[in-house]
Amino acid sequence: EAKAKGRNTFHFYSQELNAAANERLFIENELRTGIREGQFRVYYQPQVDCRNNQVVGYEALIRWFHPNEGMIPPTKFIPIAEATGLIVELGAWILQEACEFAARLASQDLKNNISINLSARQFKDANLVSTLDKIIKQTGVEPKRLHLELTESMLMGHVEAAILQLHQLKALGVSISIDDFGTGYSSLSYLKRFPVDILKVDRSFVKDIPQDSNDMEITAAIIAMAQKLKLNVVAEGVETIEQIEFLQNNNCYIVQGYYYSKPIPEDELPALYEQLNSLNS
Ligand code: C2E
Ligand code: MG
Ligand code: MG
Ligand code: MG
Repeated sequence: EAKAKGRNTFHFYSQELNAAANERLFIENELRTGIREGQFRVYYQPQVDCRNNQVVGYEALIRWFHPNEGMIPPTKFIPIAEATGLIVELGAWILQEACEFAARLASQDLKNNISINLSARQFKDANLVSTLDKIIKQTGVEPKRLHLELTESMLMGHVEAAILQLHQLKALGVSISIDDFGTGYSSLSYLKRFPVDILKVDRSFVKDIPQDSNDMEITAAIIAMAQKLKLNVVAEGVETIEQIEFLQNNNCYIVQGYYYSKPIPEDELPALYEQLNSLNS
């Protein structure tokens, strides 16, 4: 009966929409299996101080290695994990992994920050603070090493609730970053009210430096504004030495991007250190 009904309404859908819906359903089902069977890994992309080529931190970025589909990029499955609520469970696992990684670095006397992306659903979740608190205590990570990345849209929806949640997170001792800064809908007057520590300049502004003078103006303005508001600033998607020179000349020293390294699994850290060392010799 459901099938017959499906056939009747079928002509309302374009073939593409139908394919997209099928893919979505496929990913939703596979996500449940993938979580259960441990098909995910957390990769880490270094954030480097371009003045001395030293790693100051890492961003945790999830990777899904599907047994048949190969690597499925986060842009494809995070929105579906978000829509189905599976992100809460997956997100808690990412927090746990990233904190264990941070604790391992600390045990080697490496004072690196770890940035972790939060999704909207996770940020709104009433249990987020207690989940994170538990993970911090259990892993022994120094909370000041943790930077939680949020986007502008997550803050602008329900401003009062967001401010309250941010204060509760900050009470654990963690820092807050605004990811993809400049791409979202955000009000500068609100920005001052949020207890935020770091702005991440979005890759879309960085990628056409030095060809696009508008992007250079915008990037310089974001960095200057961050300084005025006493926020730290990290540039994303840095791929060339020209971009590094521009950022450095505009007082942005912490950069993340393919110029230094793609996101890598933890076992590739020794090779990364070797490569960074060679830049200084
Ligand atoms: P994002 O948080 O803005 O992460 C930066 C993205 O830019 C990453 O893509 C990274 O691999 C990519 N990237 C870094 N440097 C360069 C560069 O120089 N050039 C280019 N072309 N790309 C660069 P990725 O890992 O595919 O992640 C995409 C998005 O998926 C992330 O954007 C984030 O919004 C989301 N995401 C990834 N991991 C997680 C996670 O663990 N939790 C949540 N909630 N979202 C995640
Ligand atoms: Mg991010
Ligand atoms: Mg970003
Ligand atoms: Mg992004």
